[in-house]
Amino acid sequence: MGTALKKSCSTARYNGDGRLPIEDLYRAFSVLEEAGWVREEIVVSKRERDGVPLEFPIVSFRTIGKGSAVWILSGIHGEEPAGPNALAEGVDYIKKLGQETSVVLIPMCNPLGYMSNWRYLNAKTWTEGCEVHSVGDSGHVLPDLNNPMVPRAPKALSPESGALVKHVLRLAKDYPPVMSIDLHEDDLINEGYVYSQGSRNTIAMKIIDILAAKGVAIKMQGQTRFHERITNGIVSSTGDGSIDELLASERVIVGGKFVGGPHASVAIVVETPARAMSLAKRKDAHLEIIKNLNSFLRMET
Ligand SMILES: [Zn+2]
Repeated sequence: MGTALKKSCSTARYNGDGRLPIEDLYRAFSVLEEAGWVREEIVVSKRERDGVPLEFPIVSFRTIGKGSAVWILSGIHGEEPAGPNALAEGVDYIKKLGQETSVVLIPMCNPLGYMSNWRYLNAKTWTEGCEVHSVGDSGHVLPDLNNPMVPRAPKALSPESGALVKHVLRLAKDYPPVMSIDLHEDDLINEGYVYSQGSRNTIAMKIIDILAAKGVAIKMQGQTRFHERITNGIVSSTGDGSIDELLASERVIVGGKFVGGPHASVAIVVETPARAMSLAKRKDAHLEIIKNLNSFLRMET
């Protein structure tokens, strides 16, 4: 999550933190397709930067078996590589999870951002007050916080966010999320925390334990840098317009009409403190969460 990062995008590939090259990520996830999972290109993310055309597909994978599903997302923000790298390393755990339950995996939601260590699709630099677009923006289908009869945003803020929201709403019908986990980071914080929306906090509490056991400092009480209240390492607030709010939503607005939303029993967002730890350690912490997804499922059902 988060919005305020003074950096700029570039056509140069960023690997200053030891992240895997983007092609290695695509290769790692192709194991799932070989195991019979359905691979679908949600949209090709395209931008021209400094006269250089760049394009990479945003890809989702799902088990053939439909039904109540675990949803796993990562890479919404390009400067947060721990999740996508952990998913690539732990892809066999995901594959095994798919033998027990239905799974939807969208492991790298913002490939152009990952490649260049940059978050926003519409702005090369960030300055105070400028409007910036995230791949996960879902406001165009989420009810307005003041007037819930209309959507929070008149239209999708980018082709990527429009396609991602459409994909999520379509797949949620056949793969209703029993739990969704979105792996994020924040490079402006020294202590991590977890967002949890939905009816149960037990999984969020378990994730806090896992992160702490892997050496991640946790902000147990206080506020996030967006002034959200943290209790025991968990933020329960919503209304941020993210894809995670969408996944938790009971109702959404599509084409001017209310329709059923994905309504995940629990929608979790993990935030590891990228300023405080090396990528290798953050990746290990995310990997430990991935290894435990099975046990979360037993807690939830
Ligand atoms: Zn993030």
